[in-house]
Amino acid sequence: MENKENTPKPAETAAPRPQGAPMGGPRRPPGGRRFAPRRKVCRLCAEHIDLVDYKQAQIVRNFTTDTGKILSRRITGACAKHQRQIMRAVKINRNLSLMSYNG
Ligand SMILES: [Zn+2]
Repeated sequence: MENKENTPKPAETAAPRPQGAPMGGPRRPPGGRRFAPRRKVCRLCAEHIDLVDYKQAQIVRNFTTDTGKILSRRITGACAKHQRQIMRAVKINRNLSLMSYNG
């Protein structure tokens, strides 16, 4: 038995807003994001570098500014393990005057 007729369902009446619910959905903090969030991955992990060698000054230098400051993890995306190794390598290199202390 075929019944082609679509019986219209009674439209559900909109439930009244519960008391205390925020109006207009979740609020964003002011300022907003200028950049789309990008998944940061540790470059050293990606290249399977287990140990950061201070003698590889070129690698270490990628994690410092032009003025010789160590870039933060927030910027480089390095993992904790590698950030520690970078820190040590930079400090050794400074001591050996392979890198500069100051800007
Ligand atoms: Zn890493």
